[in-house]
Amino acid sequence: MSSQALDQFLNSSIEELKTKGLYNVIDTLQGANGPVIRIDGRSLINLSSNNYLGLATDHRLIEASIKAAQTYGAGAGAVRTINGTMDLHVELEEKLARFKKTEAIIVYQSGFNCNMAAISAVMDQHDAILSDELNHASIIDGCRLSRAKVIRFKHSDMNDLRQQAKEAKESGQYRKIMVITDGVFSMDGDIAKLPEIVNIAEEFDLITYVDDAHGSGVLGAGAGTVKHFELSDRIDFQIGTLSKAIGVVGGYVAGKKQLIEWLKLRSRPFLFSTSLPPAVIASCSASVDILMNDQELIEKLWENGNHLKNGLSLLGYDVGQSETPITPCIIGDEVTTQQFSKRLYEEGVYAKAILFPTVPKGTGRIRNMPTAAHTREMLDQVISVYENVGKEMKLI
Ligand SMILES: *Cc1c(COP(=O)(O)O)cnc(C)c1O
Repeated sequence: MSSQALDQFLNSSIEELKTKGLYNVIDTLQGANGPVIRIDGRSLINLSSNNYLGLATDHRLIEASIKAAQTYGAGAGAVRTINGTMDLHVELEEKLARFKKTEAIIVYQSGFNCNMAAISAVMDQHDAILSDELNHASIIDGCRLSRAKVIRFKHSDMNDLRQQAKEAKESGQYRKIMVITDGVFSMDGDIAKLPEIVNIAEEFDLITYVDDAHGSGVLGAGAGTVKHFELSDRIDFQIGTLSKAIGVVGGYVAGKKQLIEWLKLRSRPFLFSTSLPPAVIASCSASVDILMNDQELIEKLWENGNHLKNGLSLLGYDVGQSETPITPCIIGDEVTTQQFSKRLYEEGVYAKAILFPTVPKGTGRIRNMPTAAHTREMLDQVISVYENVGKEMKLI
């Protein structure tokens, strides 16, 4: 018999989500997450993946993963610090360090894990963390785990950041102070103001931490937002994911040799959770090779992003302030946004509605994620569906 308290909690919590319209129904893909996906037996143009470069289905990655599984087995067998470190893991870390142009790299099981690992390995209850209010959930959780005092600053507001940094520093209450930000904000596609953040950090001796999950493989010739601003020497922590543009799964922290050494000694997901399987490491490695040798996919991604953005904008849609291929289409009212997304689906376009509380009330939007794998014809089809549905719903 299950606990009554648990049953009551689950019933009322799930009911509450349903009444608030926050109950999420999960769509199941019948096949790969490519530019066209299959759901319920129907083919849909896919604008909701983070598979920026289309590498998730690239044959070079698939072949590398098969070969590694045949040679090294299906699982890594242990955590990194016991004997779950294979030459494959070390080679990937060295390759990523060359790609990011940092001294060293540590690979984790996911980008989420990086934030669980890295923040609390360095920050504790005697410290403070200045965190952009729109930072990713894993940063918020990572900060909590560290037990440092978290001070939120207004999104990309450099006056607010400077003021809060000054107060924290002058209070004399904290041993260390960190500033932490997404490199690219995933809901709006805007880029963090890293040159100003770095200046403020240097003025108040702040540790700098950039989570570049949406910048890696997209900005700075693929090396990310920090490279885009040429700030590699002035940022302490760069977090990247292997799950978005790289197309597989995993995450990494890039930084100075001694920092990475410390994370290998003390960060808990590295010490207490089994390392990534050989097939994953080998396909990530093949993916990084592609990025280091060929800019074609990145160029295609930007070309497609600009084409979609211009197309929607010309139809009269509000595409927000995105500076990256992420293309929000802001509809406003929550119910209308959901209905719009549903109509797109019926017309063969899979693009998810993003609603409050993920974004502010009244700024409901469709978040479009064009990739390098989309053809021009697919995007033109999308634009034409947006035109028809928008006119039908009197939005344009
Ligand atoms: C997606 C994302 C993550 C999580 O990365 P995973 O590799 O999917 O775990 C972490 N931080 C940011 C900013 C993200 O956008």
